[in-house]
Amino acid sequence: MIVVMQKGATADQIQHMVGRVEALGLKSHVIYGTERTVIAAIGEKREQTKESLESGPGVAEVVPILAPYKVASREVKPEPTIVNTGSLTLGGGRFGVIAGPCSVENEEQIVDVARAVKAAGATGLRCGAFKPRTSPYSFQGHKELGLKMLATARDETGLAIVTEVMSPEDVSLVAKYADVLQIGARNMQNYRLLEAVGNAPAAVLLKRGPCATMDELLLAAEYILNEGNARVILCERGIRTFEAHTRFTLPLASVPYLRHRTHLPIVVDPSHGTGHTYLVPDMAAASVASGADGLIIEVHPTPETAMSDGYQCLNYAQFQATMDVCQRVAAAVGKIWA
Ligand code: PEP
Ligand code: MN
Repeated sequence: MIVVMQKGATADQIQHMVGRVEALGLKSHVIYGTERTVIAAIGEKREQTKESLESGPGVAEVVPILAPYKVASREVKPEPTIVNTGSLTLGGGRFGVIAGPCSVENEEQIVDVARAVKAAGATGLRCGAFKPRTSPYSFQGHKELGLKMLATARDETGLAIVTEVMSPEDVSLVAKYADVLQIGARNMQNYRLLEAVGNAPAAVLLKRGPCATMDELLLAAEYILNEGNARVILCERGIRTFEAHTRFTLPLASVPYLRHRTHLPIVVDPSHGTGHTYLVPDMAAASVASGADGLIIEVHPTPETAMSDGYQCLNYAQFQATMDVCQRVAAAVGKIWA
């Protein structure tokens, strides 16, 4: 349920209602909007709960939340959430680009890529130090050593670092170096991991699982929000279908769909979404046109020598050309490149 406070409700009245919600055995999330303050009351509803909350001081109305996800829903928070961390700002009309290699390979490589993508317009640096690979025999990432190299790249360029964390035990280590913790597609429904990043000091980029529905994605986001971390970014990265011409199928209708259902910022990954370098520039531009708040794109100085995902990476010139087009599309749809 949502307890909608009257315009001009006092801090004491809001606090009082938080106490009433919790006394009823419900969890409270206070959301301060520009128009009104609401308290989301989450948990099992008992009889008379609505009536009892409605009589509270400063309360305008108490309404049910129809969506299965609660804190993530637009019903609870109509205003867009803007996630800002370091150089990266996404949401509420601000557009960001997170670019970089699939994996950290060595310090020279990551610093060079960070400089190149920043010069071309990127506002964040992506790169994996812990790599989820389909085969146990593939390169698994440089782990903490890779995180240290990412920290050097941030020191050199000021770009916010987006990097994956694969298990709850590693969250505090990765959060020491990362501005944004990436939850990979394979881990979207690892609920203990979602709870762990929900308690971390960093923002979270949650990738859609290849077989996950929109409701499942939003319920996964709800796990993070429910722990108190409000800085969640959703990522459409393609789903598995019968189509074999591309690595995954990139359904861009999910962007406006999510925009209607949630206040959280949405980024698109056209690299994993298509799996082919030559398809990335057009799908990046289409993602901006679809209303996305940002992009996450794989870029490598020499894609043919990349230790992972080289076949879908852009080289520097391709990334620069893609950014030139995307900047024009972003301006046309009224986005500010932050
Ligand atoms: C990645 O971003 O390199 C990655 C492994 O992505 P996903 O989890 O979407 O497959
Ligand atoms: Mn990759």
